[in-house]
Amino acid sequence: MFEVQSHLTGTWVRGKREHPLFDPSSEERVGTAWCDPPLEGVLEAARAAGPGLRARSFGERGAMLDALSKTLRNHREELIDVSIRATGSTRADAKFDIDGGIGTMAYYAGIGSKLGNKRSLVEPGEALTKDPRFYGMHLWVTRPGVALHINAFNFPAWNLAEKLSVAILAGVPVISKPATSTSILAHRMAQIIVESGVLPQNAFQFLVGKADGILEALGPQDHIVFTGSASTGAKLRQTSAVVHRSTRLNIEADSLNSAWLLPEVAPGSEVYQAFMRDVIKEITQKAGQKCTATRRIFIHRSIIDTLQSELIEGLEGVRIGHPSLEEVHVGPLATRDQVLEFHRGVEALIGSGARLVFGDPKKVHPIGVPEGKGYFVPIILLRADNPKQSDAVHQIEVFGPCATLCPYDSIEEGGELICKGDGSLVASIYGEERESLRRALDAIAPFHGRMLVVNPKVVGKTISPGTVLPSCIHGGPGRAGGGEELGGERALRFYMQRVALQGDRAFLEQWEEGQ
Ligand code: NAP
Repeated sequence: MFEVQSHLTGTWVRGKREHPLFDPSSEERVGTAWCDPPLEGVLEAARAAGPGLRARSFGERGAMLDALSKTLRNHREELIDVSIRATGSTRADAKFDIDGGIGTMAYYAGIGSKLGNKRSLVEPGEALTKDPRFYGMHLWVTRPGVALHINAFNFPAWNLAEKLSVAILAGVPVISKPATSTSILAHRMAQIIVESGVLPQNAFQFLVGKADGILEALGPQDHIVFTGSASTGAKLRQTSAVVHRSTRLNIEADSLNSAWLLPEVAPGSEVYQAFMRDVIKEITQKAGQKCTATRRIFIHRSIIDTLQSELIEGLEGVRIGHPSLEEVHVGPLATRDQVLEFHRGVEALIGSGARLVFGDPKKVHPIGVPEGKGYFVPIILLRADNPKQSDAVHQIEVFGPCATLCPYDSIEEGGELICKGDGSLVASIYGEERESLRRALDAIAPFHGRMLVVNPKVVGKTISPGTVLPSCIHGGPGRAGGGEELGGERALRFYMQRVALQGDRAFLEQWEEGQ
């Protein structure tokens, strides 16, 4: 049995609230999360770790991340096994989470090495008057606060590692709170990080359960970085730290991501086939429990029937079952609550005018699992013939293997429908002609954090749209939370203050050199 504990002020602590944890494939109890430990001294311990971290250069902090990523990589096989058992991930899905986290850490180690001896970032300056000596420049300096990281259940390894990497590289101590339901994997990662001894004392603390006590005490130099539901995000926006003390808050929330096949793409073409591959992957990978999964599929009305039949053929080849079996592509959802939420969501979409074209919500027969056991759901494909009227299709993120086909008649109409999602993490656009691609991008760019554009020049060379790369930003406007994470060096700025400096150019540049 796994025993999930917190690591606070230098020791492992067992919280007072017992939260049972289950294997999503068998529903057998596999562990306990001991939630809500005493929080006295936790914030102070994190604050005390700050000066030591900030005194180090980006290069030195990057070296810590490099060592940590190597240590985690040494435990990769064990982590994958834990993920399969405790989160219901298939081996491929477990690797996506774990390798993604370790890879992001290694990427930020590389950025640290590139920035070298520096501890601040500088923007190009300019003379402020006719006298070139009176000069203005902007410098980014690390804020002397702490970071509270609140992670979602679907990427327990990646979420912990990507958030930790950026904060540590920026020089900010971290209190990392996993989602309780998948905390077994996050806990094992935390153990490895703590046992490695790579990070300075209390630069990383791990909190299982409620974070209210910390949230209330955060101040103007502190940071909250949240991934999860829009409703929890809304609560965080209303905390007194954020409202009254301007604690920085970054939110990654729900997202109705779109895949858009432009009218000129003919069935059978290379771009069409890439579209089909990506859509099937984005419906099924991690059993659809991905913030970047495709939820809405936009197809020109003239070919939607053909495409629907081919898509169904592709989905028929996807096997649901016990995640430890090699032939299985889709495992269970993480918890029973997520199964209930999935069914509620599918019902809402149907209630809003979408109709079932593949899968029966009541029927799922996973391979290698006793009948009726496990948190399995079927793959569901819906079609909204009048997507302008089906509001729920653009508003409800069904967090599982479910997507809705939407016909459109013109690029302008397709763009308008996509924007009804009110802001998403990612859209993927598949086209052949420059002009139509340009019109499509113009129509939806301000509503997205990221867009994957597949044309004949890059077809076969792209990665599928749900993959978050550390070099590009992850986040999106509106419903997606309005946040921004990753994006290479840009990510560091969330933890830094931009300060305009005006004065004697020679002095300012000399001072900046020493930073
Ligand atoms: P959630 O319930 O919002 O939980 C996310 C994190 O917030 C967890 O660590 C949770 O802790 C914590 N939390 C919950 N209430 C809190 C509060 N009042 N104050 C501080 N922290 C709080 O979301 P979820 O269960 O992970 O996922 C639910 C839905 O979120 C999904 O169905 C999906 O729609 C969406 N989601 C979006 C993304 C994205 O990146 N866009 C990712 C994952 C999920 P506990 O686990 O201890 O409650």
